[in-house]
Amino acid sequence: MTSEPLLHVKNLVRNFDIKTGLLRRTTDKVHAVDNVSFDIQAGETLGLVGESGSGKSTTGRCVLRLIEPTSGEVRFNGQDVTALDARELIALRRDMQIIFQDPYASLNSRMTVGAAIGEALVIHNLVKNKKDLQDRVIDLLETVGLNASHLKRYPHEFSGGQRQRVGIARALAVSPKLIVCDEAVSALDVSVQAQIINLLGDLQEKFGLSYLFIAHDLSVVEHISQRVAVMYLGRIVEMAPARELYQRPLHPYTEALLSAVPVPDPRVAKNHQRLQGEVPNPINPPTGCHFHPRCPVRKAVCSEKRPEFKQTSNGHWVACHLHD
Ligand code: SF4
Repeated sequence: MTSEPLLHVKNLVRNFDIKTGLLRRTTDKVHAVDNVSFDIQAGETLGLVGESGSGKSTTGRCVLRLIEPTSGEVRFNGQDVTALDARELIALRRDMQIIFQDPYASLNSRMTVGAAIGEALVIHNLVKNKKDLQDRVIDLLETVGLNASHLKRYPHEFSGGQRQRVGIARALAVSPKLIVCDEAVSALDVSVQAQIINLLGDLQEKFGLSYLFIAHDLSVVEHISQRVAVMYLGRIVEMAPARELYQRPLHPYTEALLSAVPVPDPRVAKNHQRLQGEVPNPINPPTGCHFHPRCPVRKAVCSEKRPEFKQTSNGHWVACHLHD
């Protein structure tokens, strides 16, 4: 018997209207998220990877309803997220938080980091008095590797990595169950990336957190994810346990992404093939398999028929006619 996942996303769709002309008439649609389905178990990390324009961030935001889904199912902890009213949504946001790529943009530059972290505790009525508030904020700062001396400082006084730690402390303040990490380490240097990923791993262990970890680079999600899903032009094209996906990728796009990961040994790097061409225009995506114009092993059927997303072995899913 399998237990109900913490997050269940089924056939999620998000279309954006393209409006043109003086009258701003809708002339086209972008299928930013096109029938996306996945689960996240309690305490699990799902890495969600794709190039820019793949729909991965829109997917993350639809899960939290920061962007309204066009259709599909989002269930969190047994609750239908798409059916919640504004008041219920505020309560849900305690359990589901998001960390953005640029914490500087999400922090008020005129607010001390102590006030920024404490804000959520006050909004959700989680502290008894000022002393309690200060103690909780210091505790959160220490949890993310900062300390009480940072309490009265302003965001501009912090490095990028420290600001991301503040962003994490802010998310943790309300004791969430799930955090959507939306390109949370993408703007950081590689060594700082590793520190933040280690911190997120430690926090997961300590608090039993689940993550939807969104990144454009497969190497970033490798060590933190139990499972990885790869998106291309709004669709998940492959999803598998992390080790399986890195060792035995089945989709040519995943293979190409893996070959684009820098390899330190030049003899190995020579055999690595880079991803060819640009991501096509999502307003007018290629027919059949969206990847076919860039695919080195495409067949005639690939431009005609959309490949089904199928399970090929235990937990390994792929949408590719090579595996029909
Ligand atoms: Fe390549 Fe065809 Fe598979 Fe698409 S379905 S990835 S075009 S082989």
